[in-house]
Amino acid sequence: MEQCERCGAQAVVHQTTILNGLKQENHLCANCASELGIIKIGPAFIKKNHNRGLRCEQCGLTQRELGNGKLLGCSSCYKTFWNLLKDIIQRAQGGSLQHDGWIPNNASQIINKKREQDRLKRRLSEAVNKELYEEAAGIRDELKDLEKKYNKKSD
Ligand SMILES: [Zn+2]
Ligand SMILES: [Zn+2]
Repeated sequence: MEQCERCGAQAVVHQTTILNGLKQENHLCANCASELGIIKIGPAFIKKNHNRGLRCEQCGLTQRELGNGKLLGCSSCYKTFWNLLKDIIQRAQGGSLQHDGWIPNNASQIINKKREQDRLKRRLSEAVNKELYEEAAGIRDELKDLEKKYNKKSD
């Protein structure tokens, strides 16, 4: 079972892109794919289905909440909502992505950026907790540099 490269949850969206002859694979969970705009879980998600009463038994997430932007709460959600998610995911992987404005190469950049950001932010809050203000300032600078670095690349 592949894991989501952003958060480690079970990956359900698998993308293979070829860039400069290099094969690159992205594996994402439904939440992260939705955050990156690769799949769209929105109000249409509720409307489309006659059975609106789906509810995850483990965490209590309802179909309506999910359609209103709540994230999947547990692995059991995937089982509960799979029939609905399946459609969206299949569509996302079916080559219609460019119409939605999603460029695979760009997405992996966003993922890398997010990963680095998360790492730095963790270090930052540790430093602040330990009252290491000089170190914290250094980490803030690194975060700024990171922003610059990725903004430049996406030009
Ligand atoms: Zn994820
Ligand atoms: Zn759940």
